[in-house]
Amino acid sequence: MSPATIVLVLPEVLGTYGDAGNAAVLATRLRWRGIDAEVRTVGWDDAVPADADVYVLGGGEDAAQMLAVERLRDSAGLRHALDRGAPTLAVCAGLQILGRAFTVADGTRVAGLDRLDVETVPGRGARRIGDVTADPLVDGLSELLVGFENHGGVTSLGPDAAPLARVRGNGAGNGTGDRLEGVVGGSVVGTYFHGPVLARNPELADLLLTRALGDLPPLEVPEGVPSSTARGLAARFRDRFSPDAARRAGA
Ligand code: GLN
Repeated sequence: MSPATIVLVLPEVLGTYGDAGNAAVLATRLRWRGIDAEVRTVGWDDAVPADADVYVLGGGEDAAQMLAVERLRDSAGLRHALDRGAPTLAVCAGLQILGRAFTVADGTRVAGLDRLDVETVPGRGARRIGDVTADPLVDGLSELLVGFENHGGVTSLGPDAAPLARVRGNGAGNGTGDRLEGVVGGSVVGTYFHGPVLARNPELADLLLTRALGDLPPLEVPEGVPSSTARGLAARFRDRFSPDAARRAGA
């Protein structure tokens, strides 16, 4: 049987904060289950394969993001993959690119790939930067989501888009003042969480893998692999967390 394939899309321009690690996490979680898996990296000069199992887009600065959207606009492979409902994770700039349109800090408005019913415009004031926690709002996720956000854009959801989560504390999430974070539309999950988000939120990784491949065998994390989930960190560094913070993290 051919290996399960995770496609990492244009990490040269969409690779902020280790977002490429999301592809490695997906492949590793399959291998830990005894399922053969490979990461196919799509570089600037490569065509996006249409037949992979999961697609991963990361974040990027405004200029890099504009390059990426122009490069992907005519990608038949990505279009076919999304048309057939291939599970896709899009982080930050990746999220913005898959929306209807985004406007960057200098006021340039760019058409997106129109796969998510969202539009992004520059937010007022300071960039939205910091560690964030959020309660998931989608079926199949119950663990607190954790991540690191750093974005200037604020993203409004249209009627065909659902939020991924609701942020706690000082988190901005989509930046629209309603505490909503990320977006789910069709087979695409978009989020402002870097981290990389799938290393810190393995439940989300397994949700994408299950959507791609069906029910998965149980997974035993090999000994010595530290957990960077909210629950794992709270359990490991319990003395550094207030009991209340640890409880909120579910530990
Ligand atoms: N350039 C976008 C913004 O600032 C995305 C940033 C990112 O991917 N970290 O909103």
